[in-house]
Amino acid sequence: MIIVRTRFSHAGELKPHLVHVWDVFCQYSQTQWEEVESEPHITIGFGADCEVHFSNTFKNQMEQATFEADKWFGDELMLKMEDGSNDYLGTAFYLVNCLQEYGETELDHKQRFRFDRSVQHAFGVTQQNVVAHLFNRLIDENDSVAKLFKKPKRISKIIITHDIDKLYLSFLHDGFWALKKGRIDIILKLIFNEVVGKQEWKNIDRIMRMEDEYDVKAVFFWLANQGKVNAIESNADYAMESEVVQGYLKLGAELGHESGLHKSISMDSFQTEFQKLGFIPVANRYHHLKFAMPTDFPKIDTSGLKADLSLGFAEEHGFRNSYGLPLKMFDPVAKKPYAFVQIPLSMMDNTFRFYNGKNPEETWKEMYGFMEANKSNCVLSVLWHNPFFTPYKFGGYLKCFKNLLGYMKEEQIGYTTIAEILDEYG
Ligand SMILES: [Zn+2]
Repeated sequence: MIIVRTRFSHAGELKPHLVHVWDVFCQYSQTQWEEVESEPHITIGFGADCEVHFSNTFKNQMEQATFEADKWFGDELMLKMEDGSNDYLGTAFYLVNCLQEYGETELDHKQRFRFDRSVQHAFGVTQQNVVAHLFNRLIDENDSVAKLFKKPKRISKIIITHDIDKLYLSFLHDGFWALKKGRIDIILKLIFNEVVGKQEWKNIDRIMRMEDEYDVKAVFFWLANQGKVNAIESNADYAMESEVVQGYLKLGAELGHESGLHKSISMDSFQTEFQKLGFIPVANRYHHLKFAMPTDFPKIDTSGLKADLSLGFAEEHGFRNSYGLPLKMFDPVAKKPYAFVQIPLSMMDNTFRFYNGKNPEETWKEMYGFMEANKSNCVLSVLWHNPFFTPYKFGGYLKCFKNLLGYMKEEQIGYTTIAEILDEYG
Protein backbone atom coordinates (compact mmCIF):
# COMPACT_ATOMS: atom_id res chain seq x y z
CA MET A 1 0.00 0.00 0.00
CA ILE A 2 1.28 3.45 -0.94
CA ILE A 3 2.29 5.89 1.77
CA VAL A 4 1.39 9.32 0.41
CA ARG A 5 4.45 11.57 0.57
CA THR A 6 3.02 14.96 1.47
CA ARG A 7 4.74 18.34 1.37
CA PHE A 8 3.33 21.44 3.04
CA SER A 9 3.83 24.71 1.22
CA HIS A 10 3.63 28.16 2.85
CA ALA A 11 1.70 26.69 5.76
CA GLY A 12 3.28 29.06 8.29
CA GLU A 13 1.62 29.08 11.68
CA LEU A 14 -1.27 27.07 10.35
CA LYS A 15 0.87 24.00 9.78
CA PRO A 16 -0.64 22.09 12.77
CA HIS A 17 -4.14 22.85 11.43
CA LEU A 18 -3.27 21.58 7.95
CA VAL A 19 -1.59 18.48 9.34
CA HIS A 20 -4.73 17.79 11.39
CA VAL A 21 -7.28 18.00 8.61
CA TRP A 22 -4.98 16.12 6.22
CA ASP A 23 -4.71 13.39 8.82
CA VAL A 24 -8.50 13.21 9.19
CA PHE A 25 -8.88 13.05 5.41
CA CYS A 26 -6.26 10.30 5.06
CA GLN A 27 -7.86 8.33 7.89
CA TYR A 28 -11.24 8.67 6.17
CA SER A 29 -9.74 7.38 2.93
CA GLN A 30 -7.86 4.65 4.83
CA THR A 31 -4.56 5.83 3.38
CA GLN A 32 -1.28 6.32 5.19
CA TRP A 33 0.78 9.46 4.72
CA GLU A 34 4.11 10.95 5.75
CA GLU A 35 5.52 14.43 5.62
CA VAL A 36 8.42 15.07 3.23
CA GLU A 37 10.46 18.08 2.17
CA SER A 38 11.26 16.83 -1.33
CA GLU A 39 9.94 14.44 -3.98
CA PRO A 40 6.37 14.60 -2.73
CA HIS A 41 3.42 12.77 -4.23
CA ILE A 42 1.37 15.82 -3.40
CA THR A 43 1.84 19.37 -2.12
CA ILE A 44 -0.79 21.09 0.02
CA GLY A 45 -1.07 24.50 1.64
CA PHE A 46 -1.21 28.12 0.55
CA GLY A 47 1.61 28.30 -2.04
CA ALA A 48 1.19 28.57 -5.82
CA ASP A 49 2.90 25.17 -6.10
CA CYS A 50 0.07 23.36 -4.27
CA GLU A 51 -2.15 20.69 -5.74
CA VAL A 52 -4.54 21.06 -2.82
CA HIS A 53 -5.13 24.67 -1.83
CA PHE A 54 -6.57 26.20 1.28
CA SER A 55 -8.44 29.50 0.91
CA ASN A 56 -7.33 32.88 2.19
CA THR A 57 -10.59 33.05 4.10
CA PHE A 58 -9.53 29.96 6.07
CA LYS A 59 -6.10 31.48 6.69
CA ASN A 60 -7.41 34.87 7.76
CA GLN A 61 -10.16 33.57 10.03
CA MET A 62 -7.85 31.12 11.76
CA GLU A 63 -5.10 33.71 12.21
CA GLN A 64 -7.58 36.16 13.70
CA ALA A 65 -9.28 33.42 15.77
CA THR A 66 -12.67 34.27 14.25
CA PHE A 67 -14.93 31.29 14.80
CA GLU A 68 -18.49 32.62 14.27
CA ALA A 69 -20.16 30.74 11.42
CA ASP A 70 -21.52 33.85 9.70
CA LYS A 71 -17.95 35.09 9.24
CA TRP A 72 -17.06 31.84 7.45
CA PHE A 73 -20.08 31.03 5.31
CA GLY A 74 -22.54 32.89 3.11
CA ASP A 75 -25.58 31.16 1.69
CA GLU A 76 -23.69 27.92 1.16
CA LEU A 77 -21.99 25.71 3.75
CA MET A 78 -18.70 25.94 1.87
CA LEU A 79 -15.58 28.07 2.15
CA LYS A 80 -14.64 29.62 -1.15
CA MET A 81 -11.26 30.09 -2.80
CA GLU A 82 -10.36 33.43 -4.28
CA ASP A 83 -11.33 32.11 -7.74
CA GLY A 84 -14.73 30.96 -6.47
CA SER A 85 -13.89 27.26 -6.30
CA ASN A 86 -14.47 25.20 -3.16
CA ASP A 87 -12.11 24.89 -0.20
CA TYR A 88 -13.09 21.37 0.86
CA LEU A 89 -10.42 20.84 3.51
CA GLY A 90 -10.83 24.30 5.08
CA THR A 91 -14.58 23.70 5.32
CA ALA A 92 -13.99 20.21 6.76
CA PHE A 93 -11.60 21.62 9.37
CA TYR A 94 -14.22 24.13 10.52
CA LEU A 95 -16.97 21.50 10.78
CA VAL A 96 -15.23 18.47 12.31
CA ASN A 97 -13.70 20.57 15.05
CA CYS A 98 -16.92 22.42 15.99
CA LEU A 99 -15.28 25.82 15.59
CA GLN A 100 -18.76 27.41 15.69
CA GLU A 101 -18.93 26.45 19.37
CA TYR A 102 -15.78 28.37 20.32
CA GLY A 103 -16.55 31.97 21.10
CA GLU A 104 -20.32 31.30 21.19
CA THR A 105 -21.85 33.44 23.92
CA GLU A 106 -25.60 32.71 23.71
CA LEU A 107 -25.77 29.37 25.49
CA ASP A 108 -29.05 27.67 26.49
CA HIS A 109 -30.62 27.57 29.97
CA LYS A 110 -28.30 24.70 30.89
CA GLN A 111 -25.23 26.56 29.58
CA ARG A 112 -24.88 24.41 26.46
CA PHE A 113 -24.37 25.26 22.81
CA ARG A 114 -27.77 25.83 21.21
CA PHE A 115 -28.82 23.62 18.33
CA ASP A 116 -30.89 26.45 16.87
CA ARG A 117 -27.71 28.55 16.53
CA SER A 118 -25.78 25.83 14.67
CA VAL A 119 -24.89 25.68 10.98
CA GLN A 120 -26.38 22.17 10.96
CA HIS A 121 -29.74 23.69 11.88
CA ALA A 122 -29.34 26.71 9.60
CA PHE A 123 -28.50 24.60 6.55
CA GLY A 124 -30.74 21.68 7.49
CA VAL A 125 -27.91 19.13 7.30
CA THR A 126 -27.85 17.61 10.79
CA GLN A 127 -28.48 14.08 9.52
CA GLN A 128 -25.91 14.34 6.73
CA ASN A 129 -22.29 13.23 6.89
CA VAL A 130 -21.30 16.51 5.25
CA VAL A 131 -17.57 16.12 5.79
CA ALA A 132 -17.47 12.68 4.14
CA HIS A 133 -19.23 14.30 1.20
CA LEU A 134 -16.59 17.08 1.08
CA PHE A 135 -13.80 14.48 1.14
CA ASN A 136 -15.48 12.49 -1.64
CA ARG A 137 -15.79 15.61 -3.78
CA LEU A 138 -12.12 16.41 -3.23
CA ILE A 139 -11.25 12.93 -4.52
CA ASP A 140 -13.69 13.20 -7.44
CA GLU A 141 -12.75 16.69 -8.58
CA ASN A 142 -9.02 17.01 -7.95
CA ASP A 143 -6.97 14.87 -10.37
CA SER A 144 -3.86 14.88 -8.16
CA VAL A 145 -5.91 13.63 -5.22
CA ALA A 146 -7.82 11.09 -7.35
CA LYS A 147 -4.54 9.43 -8.37
CA LEU A 148 -3.60 8.78 -4.74
CA PHE A 149 -6.85 8.33 -2.82
CA LYS A 150 -9.95 6.17 -3.10
CA LYS A 151 -13.39 6.81 -1.75
CA PRO A 152 -13.72 4.33 1.13
CA LYS A 153 -16.47 1.72 1.37
CA ARG A 154 -16.50 0.42 4.90
CA ILE A 155 -19.75 -0.74 6.45
CA SER A 156 -20.82 1.50 9.31
CA LYS A 157 -20.69 0.26 12.88
CA ILE A 158 -22.86 1.00 15.88
CA ILE A 159 -21.73 1.68 19.42
CA ILE A 160 -24.47 1.11 21.98
CA THR A 161 -24.39 3.18 25.16
CA HIS A 162 -26.47 3.67 28.30
CA ASP A 163 -26.28 6.63 30.68
CA ILE A 164 -27.41 5.48 34.12
CA ASP A 165 -29.12 8.47 35.77
CA LYS A 166 -31.84 6.92 37.91
CA LEU A 167 -32.58 3.46 39.30
CA TYR A 168 -35.35 4.17 41.81
CA LEU A 169 -37.73 6.72 40.27
CA SER A 170 -40.14 4.29 38.60
CA PHE A 171 -42.79 4.64 41.31
CA LEU A 172 -42.94 8.41 40.87
CA HIS A 173 -42.87 8.51 37.06
CA ASP A 174 -44.64 5.29 36.14
CA GLY A 175 -47.05 5.74 39.07
CA PHE A 176 -48.08 9.21 37.85
CA TRP A 177 -48.43 7.86 34.32
CA ALA A 178 -50.66 5.00 35.59
CA LEU A 179 -52.71 7.43 37.67
CA LYS A 180 -53.42 9.58 34.60
CA LYS A 181 -54.47 6.46 32.69
CA GLY A 182 -56.63 5.28 35.59
CA ARG A 183 -54.67 2.01 35.76
CA ILE A 184 -55.11 0.99 39.38
CA ASP A 185 -53.75 -2.49 38.57
CA ILE A 186 -50.42 -0.99 37.52
CA ILE A 187 -50.26 1.26 40.58
CA LEU A 188 -50.76 -1.79 42.79
CA LYS A 189 -48.02 -3.63 40.94
CA LEU A 190 -45.65 -0.66 41.34
CA ILE A 191 -46.40 -0.52 45.06
CA PHE A 192 -45.68 -4.23 45.33
CA ASN A 193 -42.39 -3.73 43.42
CA GLU A 194 -41.38 -0.97 45.85
CA VAL A 195 -42.08 -3.19 48.83
CA VAL A 196 -40.08 -6.14 47.51
CA GLY A 197 -37.28 -3.90 46.16
CA LYS A 198 -37.81 -4.80 42.49
CA GLN A 199 -38.18 -1.29 41.10
CA GLU A 200 -38.80 -1.26 37.33
CA TRP A 201 -35.85 1.03 36.53
CA LYS A 202 -33.45 -1.13 38.53
CA ASN A 203 -33.06 -3.12 35.34
CA ILE A 204 -29.38 -2.82 34.39
CA ASP A 205 -28.78 -6.55 34.82
CA ARG A 206 -31.70 -7.31 32.50
CA ILE A 207 -30.34 -4.89 29.87
CA MET A 208 -26.88 -6.41 30.12
CA ARG A 209 -28.21 -9.95 29.76
CA MET A 210 -30.52 -9.06 26.88
CA GLU A 211 -27.63 -7.51 24.96
CA ASP A 212 -25.59 -10.58 25.70
CA GLU A 213 -28.34 -12.72 24.15
CA TYR A 214 -28.12 -10.59 21.01
CA ASP A 215 -24.35 -10.96 21.14
CA VAL A 216 -23.57 -7.26 21.46
CA LYS A 217 -21.42 -5.38 23.95
CA ALA A 218 -22.42 -1.96 25.26
CA VAL A 219 -21.01 0.92 27.29
CA PHE A 220 -22.60 1.90 30.64
CA PHE A 221 -21.87 5.41 31.98
CA TRP A 222 -22.12 5.91 35.75
CA LEU A 223 -22.67 9.06 37.81
CA ALA A 224 -20.29 9.54 40.74
CA ASN A 225 -22.42 12.19 42.48
CA GLN A 226 -25.97 12.00 43.82
CA GLY A 227 -28.86 14.33 44.48
CA LYS A 228 -30.51 17.51 43.32
CA VAL A 229 -28.31 20.22 41.82
CA ASN A 230 -30.95 22.92 41.25
CA ALA A 231 -34.58 23.24 40.15
CA ILE A 232 -34.00 21.62 36.75
CA GLU A 233 -30.92 19.45 37.23
CA SER A 234 -30.10 16.46 39.40
CA ASN A 235 -27.43 13.80 39.52
CA ALA A 236 -27.82 10.11 40.40
CA ASP A 237 -30.37 8.58 42.75
CA TYR A 238 -27.95 5.73 43.51
CA ALA A 239 -24.60 5.40 45.24
CA MET A 240 -21.68 3.90 43.35
CA GLU A 241 -20.58 1.96 46.42
CA SER A 242 -24.03 0.37 46.90
CA GLU A 243 -24.32 -3.37 46.59
CA VAL A 244 -26.74 -3.01 43.68
CA VAL A 245 -24.39 -0.89 41.56
CA GLN A 246 -21.34 -2.95 42.46
CA GLY A 247 -23.28 -6.03 41.33
CA TYR A 248 -24.03 -4.36 37.98
CA LEU A 249 -20.37 -3.42 37.48
CA LYS A 250 -19.32 -6.99 38.19
CA LEU A 251 -21.91 -8.47 35.84
CA GLY A 252 -20.98 -5.95 33.12
CA ALA A 253 -17.33 -6.92 33.37
CA GLU A 254 -18.21 -10.63 33.24
CA LEU A 255 -20.29 -10.14 30.09
CA GLY A 256 -17.66 -7.95 28.40
CA HIS A 257 -19.53 -4.64 28.57
CA GLU A 258 -17.54 -1.45 29.14
CA SER A 259 -18.01 1.10 31.94
CA GLY A 260 -17.35 4.83 31.80
CA LEU A 261 -17.84 8.02 33.77
CA HIS A 262 -21.04 10.01 33.33
CA LYS A 263 -19.52 13.33 34.46
CA SER A 264 -21.99 14.80 36.92
CA ILE A 265 -23.17 18.38 37.18
CA SER A 266 -20.79 19.49 39.91
CA MET A 267 -17.67 21.51 40.59
CA ASP A 268 -15.75 18.26 41.12
CA SER A 269 -12.72 17.70 38.93
CA PHE A 270 -12.44 14.56 36.83
CA GLN A 271 -9.87 13.24 39.31
CA THR A 272 -12.28 13.67 42.23
CA GLU A 273 -15.04 11.91 40.32
CA PHE A 274 -12.71 9.04 39.35
CA GLN A 275 -12.09 8.50 43.06
CA LYS A 276 -15.79 8.53 43.89
CA LEU A 277 -16.45 6.24 40.92
CA GLY A 278 -14.12 3.62 42.33
CA PHE A 279 -12.34 2.85 39.07
CA ILE A 280 -10.31 4.80 36.52
CA PRO A 281 -12.49 5.10 33.43
CA VAL A 282 -11.27 5.22 29.85
CA ALA A 283 -14.25 7.20 28.59
CA ASN A 284 -16.64 9.95 29.61
CA ARG A 285 -20.03 11.25 28.65
CA TYR A 286 -21.29 14.47 30.24
CA HIS A 287 -24.61 14.15 32.12
CA HIS A 288 -27.26 16.23 30.25
CA LEU A 289 -24.57 16.56 27.54
CA LYS A 290 -23.62 19.55 29.63
CA PHE A 291 -20.36 20.98 28.36
CA ALA A 292 -19.29 24.04 26.43
CA MET A 293 -16.29 25.25 24.50
CA PRO A 294 -13.68 26.39 25.07
CA THR A 295 -13.58 25.35 28.74
CA ASP A 296 -14.59 21.70 28.93
CA PHE A 297 -12.64 19.79 26.30
CA PRO A 298 -9.30 20.96 27.72
CA LYS A 299 -10.43 19.49 31.06
CA ILE A 300 -11.00 16.10 29.43
CA ASP A 301 -7.67 16.51 27.70
CA THR A 302 -5.71 16.78 30.93
CA SER A 303 -7.76 14.19 32.83
CA GLY A 304 -6.11 11.16 31.29
CA LEU A 305 -9.41 10.04 29.71
CA LYS A 306 -8.91 8.39 26.34
CA ALA A 307 -12.34 9.07 24.87
CA ASP A 308 -15.38 11.31 25.15
CA LEU A 309 -18.83 10.44 23.81
CA SER A 310 -20.69 13.68 24.54
CA LEU A 311 -20.72 15.35 21.15
CA GLY A 312 -24.36 15.25 20.10
CA PHE A 313 -27.31 17.64 19.99
CA ALA A 314 -29.98 16.86 22.60
CA GLU A 315 -32.60 18.43 20.32
CA GLU A 316 -31.91 16.52 17.12
CA HIS A 317 -30.29 13.24 16.06
CA GLY A 318 -27.42 13.34 13.58
CA PHE A 319 -23.93 14.74 13.46
CA ARG A 320 -23.03 17.71 15.70
CA ASN A 321 -19.69 18.06 13.91
CA SER A 322 -21.07 16.97 10.52
CA TYR A 323 -18.84 13.90 10.44
CA GLY A 324 -19.55 10.21 10.91
CA LEU A 325 -16.28 8.87 12.24
CA PRO A 326 -14.44 9.25 15.55
CA LEU A 327 -11.43 11.55 15.57
CA LYS A 328 -9.04 13.49 17.73
CA MET A 329 -10.48 16.99 17.44
CA PHE A 330 -8.30 20.09 17.09
CA ASP A 331 -8.20 22.71 19.83
CA PRO A 332 -8.17 26.03 17.94
CA VAL A 333 -7.20 27.94 21.08
CA ALA A 334 -4.18 25.82 22.07
CA LYS A 335 -3.54 25.19 18.34
CA LYS A 336 -2.99 21.47 18.70
CA PRO A 337 -5.10 18.32 18.61
CA TYR A 338 -6.67 17.09 21.82
CA ALA A 339 -5.18 13.86 23.13
CA PHE A 340 -8.53 12.09 23.53
CA VAL A 341 -10.73 10.58 20.82
CA GLN A 342 -14.17 12.05 20.28
CA ILE A 343 -16.84 9.46 19.49
CA PRO A 344 -19.85 11.64 18.64
CA LEU A 345 -23.37 10.79 19.80
CA SER A 346 -25.75 10.24 16.89
CA MET A 347 -29.09 9.04 18.32
CA MET A 348 -30.66 9.38 21.75
CA ASP A 349 -34.03 8.05 22.97
CA ASN A 350 -35.04 11.32 24.62
CA THR A 351 -34.32 13.38 21.51
CA PHE A 352 -37.13 11.54 19.78
CA ARG A 353 -39.53 11.23 22.71
CA PHE A 354 -39.07 14.50 24.57
CA TYR A 355 -37.57 17.03 22.14
CA ASN A 356 -39.29 15.82 18.95
CA GLY A 357 -42.47 14.38 20.49
CA LYS A 358 -42.23 11.11 18.52
CA ASN A 359 -44.01 7.96 19.62
CA PRO A 360 -42.09 4.64 19.46
CA GLU A 361 -43.21 3.82 15.89
CA GLU A 362 -42.20 7.27 14.63
CA THR A 363 -38.95 7.01 16.58
CA TRP A 364 -38.00 3.75 14.91
CA LYS A 365 -38.87 5.22 11.49
CA GLU A 366 -36.49 8.14 12.11
CA MET A 367 -33.72 5.85 13.36
CA TYR A 368 -34.12 3.45 10.44
CA GLY A 369 -34.04 6.28 7.88
CA PHE A 370 -30.95 7.80 9.44
CA MET A 371 -29.08 4.49 9.56
CA GLU A 372 -30.08 3.58 6.00
CA ALA A 373 -28.74 6.94 4.81
CA ASN A 374 -25.48 6.43 6.71
CA LYS A 375 -24.82 2.76 6.13
CA SER A 376 -21.20 3.28 5.18
CA ASN A 377 -18.20 5.10 6.63
CA CYS A 378 -19.74 5.88 10.02
CA VAL A 379 -19.54 4.86 13.64
CA LEU A 380 -23.03 5.70 14.89
CA SER A 381 -23.46 5.88 18.61
CA VAL A 382 -26.83 5.21 20.20
CA LEU A 383 -27.88 6.24 23.72
CA TRP A 384 -30.77 4.34 25.32
CA HIS A 385 -31.52 5.21 28.97
CA ASN A 386 -32.61 2.36 31.26
CA PRO A 387 -36.20 3.67 31.80
CA PHE A 388 -36.71 3.33 28.03
CA PHE A 389 -36.57 -0.45 28.52
CA THR A 390 -39.59 -0.44 30.85
CA PRO A 391 -43.26 -0.93 29.95
CA TYR A 392 -45.21 2.01 31.45
CA LYS A 393 -44.36 5.71 30.95
CA PHE A 394 -41.68 4.69 28.45
CA GLY A 395 -43.63 1.77 26.99
CA GLY A 396 -42.88 0.88 23.37
CA TYR A 397 -39.31 2.15 23.28
CA LEU A 398 -37.90 -1.26 24.17
CA LYS A 399 -39.30 -2.42 20.82
CA CYS A 400 -37.33 0.39 19.04
CA PHE A 401 -34.20 -0.86 20.71
CA LYS A 402 -34.90 -4.46 19.77
CA ASN A 403 -35.64 -3.30 16.22
CA LEU A 404 -32.19 -1.72 16.21
CA LEU A 405 -30.52 -4.95 17.32
CA GLY A 406 -32.51 -6.91 14.75
CA TYR A 407 -31.64 -4.41 12.02
CA MET A 408 -27.94 -4.68 12.86
CA LYS A 409 -28.09 -8.45 12.58
CA GLU A 410 -30.04 -8.40 9.31
CA GLU A 411 -27.86 -5.78 7.65
CA GLN A 412 -24.67 -7.24 9.11
CA ILE A 413 -23.86 -3.93 10.79
CA GLY A 414 -21.59 -4.87 13.66
CA TYR A 415 -21.31 -3.26 17.06
CA THR A 416 -18.05 -1.66 18.05
CA THR A 417 -16.48 -0.88 21.42
CA ILE A 418 -14.45 1.95 22.89
CA ALA A 419 -11.42 -0.35 23.01
CA GLU A 420 -11.74 -1.12 19.29
CA ILE A 421 -12.23 2.56 18.39
CA LEU A 422 -9.16 3.56 20.41
CA ASP A 423 -7.12 0.95 18.54
CA GLU A 424 -8.04 2.57 15.25
CA TYR A 425 -8.30 6.27 16.13
CA GLY A 426 -6.31 6.61 19.36
ZN1 LIG B 1 -27.37 11.60 32.31
